[in-house]
Amino acid sequence: MDIRDLIALGGLLHDIGKPVQRARLYNGDHSIQGHNFLLDLAEKTGVKEYEILALFSRFHHKKYMEEVRELNIPNDIKIALYVVYVADNISSKEREEEKGYDIRRPLKSVFNRNLGYPLYELNLETLPIPGEVDGITSEEYRKLVKALKEDLKKVELRVDKVMPILEKHLTFVSSVTTENNVISLYDHLKMTSAIALALYNAGCRPGSVEEAERCMREKNLLLVEGDFSGIQNFIYSVSGKGTLKYLRARSAYLELIGWDIVLKIIEDLDLTLANVVFNAGGHFMIIAQNTKGARNKLEDIRRKVTEWLWKKFEGRLYIGIDWEECTGEELMKDFNKVRGRLKKKVTIRKLKRFEFVNNVFTVGDRGRLEECQICGVEVPEEELKELGFEDGEVAKVCETCHALWFLGEKLIKMEKGLVLTDKITGEGIPGPFSEFLPYEGQLQGKYLLMKNTFSPPRTDMVFVPYIVADYYREKEGRVINFNELAEESVGAKRIGVIKGDVDKLGEYFANRKSISEYATASRFMDYFFKFYLKGVIRGYYSDIIGEVPSLGEWKENPNVVVVYAGGDDFLIVGSWNEIFELAFRIREAFRKYTGEGLTISIALGYFHSKTPIYRIADVMTERLEKAKEEGRDAIYVIERTGWRISYPWDIYMDFWREIGRKVYSDGRLTGKFRDKKGLLHKVLELRELYVRDPKDVRWAYLLAYHLSRHEVEEVFRKILGIDSKTLEEEKPQPIYWVDGILKVILMAVRG
Ligand SMILES: [Zn+2]
Repeated sequence: MDIRDLIALGGLLHDIGKPVQRARLYNGDHSIQGHNFLLDLAEKTGVKEYEILALFSRFHHKKYMEEVRELNIPNDIKIALYVVYVADNISSKEREEEKGYDIRRPLKSVFNRNLGYPLYELNLETLPIPGEVDGITSEEYRKLVKALKEDLKKVELRVDKVMPILEKHLTFVSSVTTENNVISLYDHLKMTSAIALALYNAGCRPGSVEEAERCMREKNLLLVEGDFSGIQNFIYSVSGKGTLKYLRARSAYLELIGWDIVLKIIEDLDLTLANVVFNAGGHFMIIAQNTKGARNKLEDIRRKVTEWLWKKFEGRLYIGIDWEECTGEELMKDFNKVRGRLKKKVTIRKLKRFEFVNNVFTVGDRGRLEECQICGVEVPEEELKELGFEDGEVAKVCETCHALWFLGEKLIKMEKGLVLTDKITGEGIPGPFSEFLPYEGQLQGKYLLMKNTFSPPRTDMVFVPYIVADYYREKEGRVINFNELAEESVGAKRIGVIKGDVDKLGEYFANRKSISEYATASRFMDYFFKFYLKGVIRGYYSDIIGEVPSLGEWKENPNVVVVYAGGDDFLIVGSWNEIFELAFRIREAFRKYTGEGLTISIALGYFHSKTPIYRIADVMTERLEKAKEEGRDAIYVIERTGWRISYPWDIYMDFWREIGRKVYSDGRLTGKFRDKKGLLHKVLELRELYVRDPKDVRWAYLLAYHLSRHEVEEVFRKILGIDSKTLEEEKPQPIYWVDGILKVILMAVRG
């Protein structure tokens, strides 16, 4: 085994003894128990390398490191042991004191330190909810260790194959059992592996604990960050025939460009997937070595990516890539400071954009230029390709739009995943460094991005779990279109759109103190939108979500298409009534998922199916901004008049419970209201009266009069009369909130 692989794997497995110890499978501390576990694995699998890897568990605590010198093993393995030791060392300093430990303590939530997780296995069926956890028993750990061992036995001893197995089993294992630890053991292992390898690549060759510690104090590392801008513009600035499947394909394409860049960086810099702290939502972070060679390679990659993006998309899509040198100690203790410095650099880089593309503004020798009829990019006339639509029309489009059009459907529907190959065949979709081809089981390439699985396939290709919220409603074997979504809706035939993101996320991440904590936080965040969101759409976790405003039964295959979801945000379209309910389902699932530690804001929009997509995107952006301006933790339900347009979630849900579901249920107006649409309009009118002149109290008398005439005061008790308490607090009267409920119901019963 190559020394670099040994270091990477040593980092990943050094603390494997933790769950083993908590399972009480052998005797001794976790380093000894992990050693036994790995020796056992060596015996069971016949893979000798596990014996060497067992040493990384046995020797990663200071008190044992003195023995390393005496070991009868090659010198480079000793170096590897010191490097992994020191990469782990900072976060385990407190650990050595062995105080305040209770091996039954669960992993606490990175979103709410007061709540803990049971020992979940990472899968789509279970939405992990932090709560009061009594303590995890050794029996539970025993089950986990057994499953982990079985899975490890099945895969080759390679970083890309071991990582997803560890992720699946160790995500909800606490890295230390002190109180309030929020770092997942998986992320601790991954970061140890990343730092150890980067230190080695930086030239660290320690022969003692002291030399290793010096490596950790010197600026041997680079934190590398990449962040796209212009994403919205890129995905939604398509004209004419930009159908739903095409939008979906463009957003998937963006994600793949991100992967192509990330994989190129780790390949050129001799790193592994463990060095990728995260890659989500057009944003990535990597730990690398701080050497001249590495910086040159990064410069080179950055230049190539920039030129490629410029050429392909005329500057609409840009990625700012930059790096900041730091020590290993800083990453563990002052991560937020390093990140702060780096973030500034990336922001400046994004502002400068295409400054170093040569001859950006000279287009002299490109011949006659013509616009692509889908995305509007100007290319030499002869490079345009003809594209025939279903309706017989023919458009001239650029190479990328052409490829995306034909592979778009495949890209969305692919069951398995994608292959990234560096052979350019012209049959795939071009990326900056590779070509992307849908994988159905045969293709060979460099990387295999497999969808939504942590089970590595048998292949020589490098396995990358490709987690994606790929839900779409199928219709006649293809992706449903805008017209059909509108037709499938109730009442007013409209498509619905939701756009949402997490509130105050920048602030949240700026407060993560160690890179391991950051890794846990970003992964948990991303997985909500990429992984569990799909479960929410499919109607799983209903008992967790509870009752939400609804306009009908939630279907098994709702009329919904995820255009984009990942990082901390999403845009989803569908039949308007289903999209309406989905907003609340997402919010409730997110609230429980974060243990109420974070909030989310969502905007809703309802459109004719022929509305141009760039217009929809603009409206949705404005609405979401409105909800944020008005205090966040809010939903923009519908256009309305008054002092505040969006609703605090709880107010809307409360009004729906008290009024909405008494007026409308089982897909129609309830008995009392069956022929009383006029009365509902009257209530809206009286609300209008109140909004126009809050001092005039006529609305209150008139409301009481009309409601009693129809004998429905009981239903509207919540808004009847003048509430003196809200008056004192200078808040709007309850009637102010009723329109968002009634307008939605009236839309649902529109003939
Ligand atoms: Zn185009």
